[in-house]
Amino acid sequence: MSTAAVRPTQERVEELRTSLAEIRARVQQAASANASGGRQPTLVAVSKYKPASDILACYENGQRDFGENYVQELVDKAQQLPADIRWHFIGTFQTNKSKILASIPNLYALQTVGSAKGADALNKQLISRTTTPLNVLLQVNTSGEDVKSGLPPLTSSPAPPDAELVQLARHIISSCPHLHLQGLMTIGSLTESLSSVEKPNEDFEKLKQTRDVLEEALAPEKGKWGEDGRLLLSMGMSSDFEAALRTGSDIVRVGTGIFGSRPKKEEVKNAAMS
Ligand SMILES: *Cc1c(COP(=O)(O)O)cnc(C)c1O
Repeated sequence: MSTAAVRPTQERVEELRTSLAEIRARVQQAASANASGGRQPTLVAVSKYKPASDILACYENGQRDFGENYVQELVDKAQQLPADIRWHFIGTFQTNKSKILASIPNLYALQTVGSAKGADALNKQLISRTTTPLNVLLQVNTSGEDVKSGLPPLTSSPAPPDAELVQLARHIISSCPHLHLQGLMTIGSLTESLSSVEKPNEDFEKLKQTRDVLEEALAPEKGKWGEDGRLLLSMGMSSDFEAALRTGSDIVRVGTGIFGSRPKKEEVKNAAMS
């Protein structure tokens, strides 16, 4: 691998060093405010639309977990950047992209699994992967908004036996040996403003409850899912990661807070066409 082509400028290195340090400090602070915690949360730097040179600058500051939303962009970056990066795919997962995603050797987790069909396709494509199984998180639509993907949360205990989330979790555990069910992911509605920083986010509470109910349902298969007996929670973005950590998030996905604002999707498309 040659990184010569992706060298960041010294100015950008300094900028990213500062923003990364600030976000890390805020993550530490919020995580220590969560009494039930103890596990060190993972900060995933969400680098969509940002150049490989930005990722390299963060990498040289010790950052290893990066999140991407678009398959081709992830493939291109993974080829140019160090092999010990842990890539997290957090974009919409389409079954027909299983093969290309599975071909990325250092894909660490796919956080947006939402169907048995998708899980099966991915499992099949991973047969030649010789390393550990691929971590998957099931996406839960906690806010109930139509535009957000994901399965319905579990709101009562015990979970109804036919709940989609329970069935999908069981399917992955029993029939997808190349996948490891690591946890649950949600986006939630972004309601937190600076003035409501101390207010708990209902969607984060919902994901936590869903996790607890799902763990009960999966108790007979304990040891075959999660990390140290717990399903991990991936929740919290730039505007709400502190609230998420206080609710018990294990994985926060921060883009803008580290890299600055992004162009809108339409602007990127237009630029590519012109
Ligand atoms: C873009 C994105 C993020 C990061 O969002 P920021 O607000 O820039 O921190 C996190 N999670 C998902 C699923 C995303 O698509």
